[in-house]
Amino acid sequence: MILEHLTDIVGTKNIITNKDDMAPFLEDWRGNYKGDATAILLPTNTQMVSSILKFADEHDLYIVPQGGNTGLVGGGIPDASGRMFVLSLSRMNAIRDISADNRSIVVESGCILQNIHEAAEAHDLYFPLNLAAKGSCSIGGNLSTNAGGINVLRYGNTRDLCLGIEVVLMGGKVMNLLTSLRKDNTGYDLKHLFIGAEGTLGIITAASLKLFPKPKARATAMAAIPDPQTGVALLSALKNATGDLVEAFELMPGDILKVIGKQFPNYPCPLQPVPEMALLFEIGSSDSDLATESEDGTVPIIEKLNAFLADEFETGRIIDAVVAQNETQRQAMWNIREHAPESTKRESWPVNTDISVAVSDIGRFYADASRRVKEIDPTVRICGYGHLGDGNIHFNVIEREGGDEGWAQKRGAIFDAIYEALYECNGSISAEHGIGAMKAEQLKLVKDPVALEAMHMVKTAFDPKGLLNPGKVLIS
Ligand SMILES: Cc1cc2nc3c(=O)[nH]c(=O)nc-3n(C[C@H](O)[C@H](O)[C@H](O)COP(=O)(O)OP(=O)(O)OC[C@H]3O[C@@H](n4cnc5c(N)ncnc54)[C@H](O)[C@@H]3O)c2cc1C
Repeated sequence: MILEHLTDIVGTKNIITNKDDMAPFLEDWRGNYKGDATAILLPTNTQMVSSILKFADEHDLYIVPQGGNTGLVGGGIPDASGRMFVLSLSRMNAIRDISADNRSIVVESGCILQNIHEAAEAHDLYFPLNLAAKGSCSIGGNLSTNAGGINVLRYGNTRDLCLGIEVVLMGGKVMNLLTSLRKDNTGYDLKHLFIGAEGTLGIITAASLKLFPKPKARATAMAAIPDPQTGVALLSALKNATGDLVEAFELMPGDILKVIGKQFPNYPCPLQPVPEMALLFEIGSSDSDLATESEDGTVPIIEKLNAFLADEFETGRIIDAVVAQNETQRQAMWNIREHAPESTKRESWPVNTDISVAVSDIGRFYADASRRVKEIDPTVRICGYGHLGDGNIHFNVIEREGGDEGWAQKRGAIFDAIYEALYECNGSISAEHGIGAMKAEQLKLVKDPVALEAMHMVKTAFDPKGLLNPGKVLIS
């Protein structure tokens, strides 16, 4: 009767109950979480989502929202009981409206991030949220995890890019917060409760997003540096030298560059020999004059970057550097960065983290965590790459080249060592991936108890029976 009614709501084409066809929805990208479900529901409009949540509330059905299923903390995967229903937003993927004058776009939540990029570009505009999963992740998932990526230091995270949302509450009510207003101080800004809530408070069905002028000029470099703290000093120097044109600023240690080159030979490190520590950074501007080649063949924005590098060779803060001379070389550099997660997955069963500290503490954290980890095993490879410009490092560790039979036993101690270094710096256990199932236990230990209590109060207010994404973020 339950399945019949749900089929009536979404239509026979939009429900999956066959085990084989359900499989892709029941395992996460890293292969860490494998669940089961009664059915996968694939609504095609907001009214269907509303009817599902009304019915779920009446019959105490557990609902697990899912977008592109690229999440890295098991947030979109049901448990193994087989009693839950996955609600996939993937068929709600229309672009509803785009306004060049308001610099905004309204999309359905299953819209793939890459498609939003392309829709904006067709209007000579730019949506700056950018992550390696952009071809598969959905904007609903991005909002629900408050995703970060490589351009946060200039444009902010997904929360900062959102003007409004449409959200369906448990019980079926549709809350219309889908404004494209730039200013709106009419009481509590409720959209922020759902952004980063990982599907535990409501189902986001549509969003209005900010667009920006498209960068017309870009210069990108990879540079060898002595250590991560020097990277912090260079970030400030680059911001000052370019008038705040820094779009992205990533840390790329030698160990990760070698693993990427090994697993993906088409993406070799342009710096040879591969340095111990490197940066990948980009400056950008919407001023097309900066991209216009002069009579002597130079491009102003590349000259700006060259001048900065020349100064920093003098100071010794940069040891070696390569500047992309054209779009192909630029893409090649970013391809290296984008293949970092996949390369460690192929190479090993990595210890993955997603930590953040104050940008000024990056060097201290990196050195302390490395020391503690090497005390457990001096042969491990430390692949602590990521968004140095935001203080967010994926401090990932893999076993020595050639494998280590005792690796599975060491992983727990290595996690502990990294988090001890993190707590010393008052950092966060989740900078951009969220809590999901993976960090729900840890959250209980590290979150301020009053804040945790307030989070439970909010959860109870929106989902008193705990039917939305149970076992994620908040557990008792
Ligand atoms: C190779 C790779 C690189 C990545 N790089 C980054 C990176 O640089 N920065 C970063 O932040 N993340 C990164 N991620 C993680 C991931 O891509 C993001 O978390 C992304 O935002 C998830 O989007 P999704 O559509 O795949 O969401 P899903 O994985 O489907 O879901 C994520 C969470 O959101 C909930 N959810 C999904 N849609 C909705 C909705 N419409 N309403 C309510 N809840 C919903 C789910 O229940 C789940 O809790 C990366 C992942 C991969 C595989």
